[in-house]
Amino acid sequence: MIYNEEYETLPREALEALQLKRLKQVVQRVYHNVGYYKKSFDQAGVKPDDIKTLDDLKRFPFTTKQDLRDNYPFGMFAAPMSSIVRLHASSGTTGSSTVVAYTKHDIDSWAELVARCFAAADLTKGDIIHNAYGYGLFTGGLGIHYGAEKLGASVIPMSGGNTKWQLMILQDFGPTAICCTPSYALNLAEQGRAMGIDMRSLKLRVGIFGAEPWSEQMRRQIEDAFAIKAMNIYGLSEIMGPGVSMECSDAQEGMHVFEDYFLVETINPQTGDVLPLGEQGELVFTTLTKEAFPLIRYRTRDMSRINTIPCRCGRTFHRMDRVMGRSDDMLIIRGVNVYPSQIEAVLINIEGLEPHYQLIVERAGTLDTLEVQVEVTEKLFANAGEVKVLQKLEQQLIRDMKEFLGITAKVKLVEPKTIARSEGKASRVIDKRKI
Ligand code: ADP
Ligand code: ZN
Repeated sequence: MIYNEEYETLPREALEALQLKRLKQVVQRVYHNVGYYKKSFDQAGVKPDDIKTLDDLKRFPFTTKQDLRDNYPFGMFAAPMSSIVRLHASSGTTGSSTVVAYTKHDIDSWAELVARCFAAADLTKGDIIHNAYGYGLFTGGLGIHYGAEKLGASVIPMSGGNTKWQLMILQDFGPTAICCTPSYALNLAEQGRAMGIDMRSLKLRVGIFGAEPWSEQMRRQIEDAFAIKAMNIYGLSEIMGPGVSMECSDAQEGMHVFEDYFLVETINPQTGDVLPLGEQGELVFTTLTKEAFPLIRYRTRDMSRINTIPCRCGRTFHRMDRVMGRSDDMLIIRGVNVYPSQIEAVLINIEGLEPHYQLIVERAGTLDTLEVQVEVTEKLFANAGEVKVLQKLEQQLIRDMKEFLGITAKVKLVEPKTIARSEGKASRVIDKRKI
């Protein structure tokens, strides 16, 4: 279903005209209201009036996470505190957190975009949405919450943690949709099964998962565990929060970027050169409507690819591929680049292994080494009296990683339930390298 038919199906030409109009406004806004942008534009020798076409944006400097940190906490705000109604902070997965702000208008836009995401997953006001993203400074909880209300659905503001209670609510309230991180979904399913709950017979029919990288294989596991359709949602607090892009249920092939609100580019992360659409690179977003915290050419460090092929759902917005990970999560094992989610995709396919894993990176001399610790299933563990069975499994994982990813890694199979379970974003990598 399409929530906002008028905007989500705008012909590209009209969309680009709207983007240009909004881009001109936002560039003026930051130049005159944010000291950082005045300085950075002046230094780069560009003026707001230089924007004559969308292409002219290329001449403007990037904004990086470091720039946000340098202006911590409120230095990047483009609106006075009297018109700001909400503050959030990124969860600080990689380093200190950054603070973001919203005016009333920004909150309304955000709710509209999240409502669009729900509609794209075929949810309506008749649905009950169990929201297990954390409420608080993290944008996930409240972002989803306002969108669900905007849609008119009934939202259960569950927040993260308290898994037993969550399982009770899932049974008693009978929500038809659940929102959380994919790793938490697996955790819920696992604990539910352990308590004897038939997770497949709950009323849930849709799950909306994001906030961390996950694989297509993980999607199938979750769909199977809950008997639901699992949808991918993307966002980051600097740009807004959840709802920057979303899959549509018709195609489920990439996430439509809400291009009436955000301009997206892909760049080569090493050189900063803009890549032709369709090539894999780092996503760079410019916010087109934000009042309190507009960003020009923000480097996300998320690696993806923009797909410009028209979608059968009728939306005219381009789609972005599943994000495999951030450029800083990329591991380089003896010269081969690999993302944790790619290792996940390999191990999930092996019968006898659980999607609970951890990656230990160490440095031996000048080389980085990787050890994959992964749990074996209860069933296998119970029958693994013979060491041979485990050895065979270990060999298979080593072989598959070599064959599919080209990496050589050590493997350590561990007992069921020994790897910490996530209640929000899972931390997969333990980096023991001394820098
Ligand atoms: P932090 O940067 O502290 O984790 P956020 O909560 O804003 O703060 O997280 C945003 C990041 O989460 C994105 O930049 C991206 O790396 C990741 N992310 C969000 N949604 C997805 C998704 N669907 N797939 C993969 N990664 C995602
Ligand atoms: Zn579509």
